[in-house]
Amino acid sequence: MPHIQQLPAHVADLIAAGEVVERPASVVKELVENAIDAGSSAVAVELRRGGMGLIRVTDNGCGIAPAELPTAFLRHATSKLRGPEDLGKIGTLGFRGEALAAISAVSRVEIRTRRRGDPAGSLLRLEGGVPGEAEETGAPEGTTILVRDLFYNTPARLKFMKKDSAETAAAAGLMQHLALSHPDISFRFLKDGAEALHTPGDGRLDSAVYAALGRDFARSLLPVKGGGDGVSVSGFITRPLQGRGSRGMQTFFVNGRFIKSQILTAALEEGYRNQIMKGRFPGCVLAVELPVTAVDVNVHPAKTQVKFAQEKAVFDAVYHTVLDTLEERGGPVVPVSPVPAAEPEQTVNPRGDFFQAMDAKTFREQGTKTPAKPAAPPPKRPAPPPSWNTERGGTRLSDSVPPLPRREAPAPGGRTPFPPLREDAPPSVLRREPERRKPASPAGTEKRPFVPAIPQEGTEVPGQETLEPQKETPWRIAGEVLRTYIVCESEEGCVYLIDKHAAHERINFDRLKAALEPPMRQALLTPVAVEPGREEAALLLENLPLLEDFGFSCEDFGGGAVLVREVPADLDAGDAAATLEEIAEKLRQGRSPAERRETLLHTMACKAAIKGGWKSDPAELRALVSKVQSGEVQYCPHGRPVAVKLTKYELEKMFKRA
Ligand code: ADP
Ligand code: MG
Repeated sequence: MPHIQQLPAHVADLIAAGEVVERPASVVKELVENAIDAGSSAVAVELRRGGMGLIRVTDNGCGIAPAELPTAFLRHATSKLRGPEDLGKIGTLGFRGEALAAISAVSRVEIRTRRRGDPAGSLLRLEGGVPGEAEETGAPEGTTILVRDLFYNTPARLKFMKKDSAETAAAAGLMQHLALSHPDISFRFLKDGAEALHTPGDGRLDSAVYAALGRDFARSLLPVKGGGDGVSVSGFITRPLQGRGSRGMQTFFVNGRFIKSQILTAALEEGYRNQIMKGRFPGCVLAVELPVTAVDVNVHPAKTQVKFAQEKAVFDAVYHTVLDTLEERGGPVVPVSPVPAAEPEQTVNPRGDFFQAMDAKTFREQGTKTPAKPAAPPPKRPAPPPSWNTERGGTRLSDSVPPLPRREAPAPGGRTPFPPLREDAPPSVLRREPERRKPASPAGTEKRPFVPAIPQEGTEVPGQETLEPQKETPWRIAGEVLRTYIVCESEEGCVYLIDKHAAHERINFDRLKAALEPPMRQALLTPVAVEPGREEAALLLENLPLLEDFGFSCEDFGGGAVLVREVPADLDAGDAAATLEEIAEKLRQGRSPAERRETLLHTMACKAAIKGGWKSDPAELRALVSKVQSGEVQYCPHGRPVAVKLTKYELEKMFKRA
């Protein structure tokens, strides 16, 4: 073992810098946060070559006193904290006193600053953290910092930099968040000389949303305002019908700080439960304000995470604000069941547990021994908690659309079994037909001829000989229920419910996986511009060859948009945008190329599959049933069963006949 010795200061600084400055976007983040903390009303950011060429941040904030300028670049030098007691009540974005030290340690920096009212400003240059002599200079009020040659002295880090386009996109995404978090500040972002963002800074969140996220997204939004227990929530959420293919458009701020938070995401999505299509995600720009003492921001070096003292209160505030808005203004609720206006019996008491009781394990064991348990009584409608003071903005779209019952906020991440009954709904009436007595033969023992209801593929056609006689009689397709499940009956008297989407998804998955040829493509009549969010767009662009393999032909459309010209032939052209958004989200998660390919396989199999809720023609159903019957498809690619079987005995037990 070599001797133990303390690292020289500059090496320690480089290591520390790595935590704060990971990529150009982190520099932008720290510098802009400083500008915001300095009370600026206008901030301009300029990037060249993804920030590797140059990063310049100009503000009109309070400026730095000449005497303090070199100090600002020392580690742990800050004007925002004094003692440990201040750590519990941080109201500024910065507080660690590390950013300027870290940035200057790994680049060449030039700073020009003048305090408001000072006759002159000062200029300081630093190289690898080593300051030159500060000089007096003419300068506008405020501060301009120029960062060049980022990571010039840390070649290891330099190697990990992505393409300039990816770095630019990351910085652009960040600028969006910063601009949205401070609508009172006008932000301008230039990349390689071109203006990519300019917010008015008029203090209105809707103006900032419009400028940063675009007109289409802004139009899909509903304003929200509410809160309780010292937490206030305001901003915008997407209408349920305008769900997105990923979580890329969910933006949360806590006390003006953009953060990522599972609690906030869960609360938002819980508010949309049963109102948004499966696989779609709400978008939002939500600002959560709470006392600075109720939130710990010192839990992450990049300050992108926080810890709430009262997680439940925060969850509830967001959840109720979202839910109340959707009840009031969300428009017609997207039905949970794919059939919009089902008969009263169906809407009032769906036997939701029925299929769930048959889990994968039971299914594997063929479910012959344990019949499904009877349904648990549905939860009672809770009284609205009195402490909520949700402001309800705007008028109701239609009074004929009754609001959803207020649901009790579940614990973060918790799941309610199914939505409670509507008290005002008509009661379920199951009229019993007068029993017709059957002659002699005891129920069920009678052997009836097996007659397929829909002409069956593969059954004997007159004048044509079947080469390989089928071992089993094809299941009789009794019909389709909820436009989702195919109901079949086998010769030996078992009932099968087949999830048509799951079955088709599996078939697609196997086909795509086995495919040696590239998939068939269709050219879109008009190319579609997809705007999945800047980071996501960059990910798609980085993975163009992979997308090509799956039949997508895309190109950079600038401004965080990707232009799609061709899509796989079996994908609905109207689904192209949603599919690519979803793929972008998946790409973000997948690490190795093999993993990425696999997740793409999943997405494509799912997207190309017939959906629950769609009307399918008999031939389609027949094809699916025969694949299931042959045992070729058993589980969907996510491991859920594609079919459940109910034996006659199980049915009899349910009806208390056995
Ligand atoms: P922190 O923001 O955590 O305090 P930094 O290293 O980012 O640490 O900045 C150090 C100090 O330099 C800040 O506390 C602030 O006083 C001063 N400073 C940095 N940037 C600016 C700016 N744009 N305008 C005015 N003061 C600034
Ligand atoms: Mg700072």
